[in-house]
Amino acid sequence: MIEAVQKDDAFLEDVRVKRGLGELSIWWLGQSGFLVQSGGKHLLIDPYLSDSLTKKYAETDKPHVRMTERVIAPERLDFIDLITSSHNHTDHFDPETLDPLLSVNPATKIILPEANRGVSPPRLSEHNDPERFIGIDADRTQRSGGINVHGIAAAHNKLERDERGHHKFLGYVFDIGRWRVYHSGDCRWYPGLAEGVRLFRPDVAILPINGDEPGRRVAGNFDGLEAARLAKDIKTKIVMPCHFEMFEFNTVEPDLFVKSCDEIDQPYKVMRSGERWSSEEFG
Ligand SMILES: [Zn+2]
Repeated sequence: MIEAVQKDDAFLEDVRVKRGLGELSIWWLGQSGFLVQSGGKHLLIDPYLSDSLTKKYAETDKPHVRMTERVIAPERLDFIDLITSSHNHTDHFDPETLDPLLSVNPATKIILPEANRGVSPPRLSEHNDPERFIGIDADRTQRSGGINVHGIAAAHNKLERDERGHHKFLGYVFDIGRWRVYHSGDCRWYPGLAEGVRLFRPDVAILPINGDEPGRRVAGNFDGLEAARLAKDIKTKIVMPCHFEMFEFNTVEPDLFVKSCDEIDQPYKVMRSGERWSSEEFG
């Protein structure tokens, strides 16, 4: 099991350190999950903080063996202003994570694709209050908890819409404090993606790198080369890879990403689970 570099009490202490309101701090929580802090606000993106998939697939031919230990129990994150989900696969919308989160953050809402709102799955066991779920679509903006969220269509293999025409997979551009962060969700390259995101000039881009490998299941992510190129294309100041080191059957080494970023002079940060990156590093 890969150890988290900070977890439990040590992780919470790091989150609670008093920082300047102008600073941006980002912690990787494993898979596509991130905690983002700025201007006194806390945003939680795609949190997966349970073992629900390991339990669900334990007796099947698709065991989801966890590779990295959990950073924090969701019920200890009682200071969250907004939660988002990029699509309704369990590693991006996990009822076992979201139920306790909604309990300890009674005023906090979840922004998720309108196509996923109210469909089953996802369905939370205790918290089905529709008021707490805000649907969003590509090219639309919502604001909640003092954070702006703009939807960007994501091609989880391909762009898909429901019968009402709403995108099933999204990425988001967040405005938090004075910073702009792009999290693509599970996404592959498609025509118009870079042009659309470039308009926002995100300071930070968070991109999955768990691309396809011959003979392996299709993961619906960029590979390391595509992620590096997209980051360069959208002119982001720094790119962080994600969607690896969570499940043994569904991971990749970040080597190709690192090599590709180096080759094209794209600044990057490969996080470890529980690690923090801060905007101080921009100097
Ligand atoms: Zn995924």
